[in-house]
Amino acid sequence: MEQVLLYILLGLEVVLRVVLEVRERRLTQVRGGVFAVLRLVPLLNDIVPLPESRKAPAASAFVEKHEEGHKSLHHGILRSVTKIIFLIVAVWFLAAMLSRFGLTIYESVLWLHLAAIPLRMIFHLYCWNQEYEADAYAMKQLGKAKAKEAMRDLVASEIPYTKLFAVVYREHPTATLRQRRLFAK
Ligand SMILES: [Zn+2]
Repeated sequence: MEQVLLYILLGLEVVLRVVLEVRERRLTQVRGGVFAVLRLVPLLNDIVPLPESRKAPAASAFVEKHEEGHKSLHHGILRSVTKIIFLIVAVWFLAAMLSRFGLTIYESVLWLHLAAIPLRMIFHLYCWNQEYEADAYAMKQLGKAKAKEAMRDLVASEIPYTKLFAVVYREHPTATLRQRRLFAK
C-alpha cells in the first residue's frame, strides 16, 4: 500500500516538474538544455546544479558591502545551523522509515527525497530573506544611486528565472526580485 502511494507521489512529482519547466521556458524564453531534463528525474534533481549567471557580475562596492552585511548579520552561521538541523531531521526520518515502518533503504531514501521538497522551498525563502537583508545593509552604507547601478548590473548578468522556479530551485532570489524589494519603499 505505501509502495503504491510512493510511486504515485513520485509520478506526480515528475508531472509537476515538467509543468514547471514548460512554464519556465515559455515565460523566460531561455532554453533549459540538458539540465532541464535532469531536473525531472527524482533524486537526480536533488544534485543537478543550476547555472546562475551569464557572466560574472562586475565587482563593485555594493557587492562588497552586501557580503559585509552577511558577515555582520551572522548569516553564514545561521545558514549552517539550519542545514545541520535539517540533516539531523533527515537522519532521524531515515531511521524511522527503516526501523518503525520496515521499509527498504531504497524506499526510505525516496520518501526522504519527497519530504525534503517542501522543506527545501522553505529553506530557500529563509535564504532569500538573508539576501534582502544584506542588500538593505549595503544600500544603507552606499546610498540609493550606487545600489541602483549595482542592481542593474546584477539583473543584466543573471540568467532570468521566474519567482516560482527560483523558490523550488534557488537559494538566491532573482536579481529582479532583489531590485523590486530594495526599492519598494
Ligand atoms: Zn548574498
